[in-house]
Amino acid sequence: MKNTRRQFLIMSAAGAATLSLNNLAQAQAMVAETDPQAQALGYKADTTKVDTKKYPKHAAAQRCDNCALWQAKGAAAAGGCSLFAGKQVAAAGWCSAWAKKAG
Ligand code: SF4
Repeated sequence: MKNTRRQFLIMSAAGAATLSLNNLAQAQAMVAETDPQAQALGYKADTTKVDTKKYPKHAAAQRCDNCALWQAKGAAAAGGCSLFAGKQVAAAGWCSAWAKKAG
């Protein structure tokens, strides 16, 4: 009986560890273009797919990884953006809040 309880406790601890790993993975999920906030900002994971009629100031050279709000260091395919807390945007992405990175 004692052993079973101990095993249960060990299993629970393992379960909790798996759960927090899952949370971590979720925290780094990519922003979907269908996400309401992404839609409101006109976010596209591929800057070349942006509707230039809707966003005439957009230029293909504008990308998340050269935006002032991009948070990843060095070369990365995806990184954080201060507008999308807990999620990642594509390095080659774009949204209407794009602002030239200083320097
Ligand atoms: Fe990308 Fe900048 Fe828009 Fe964030 S604010 S999604 S980094 S273009």
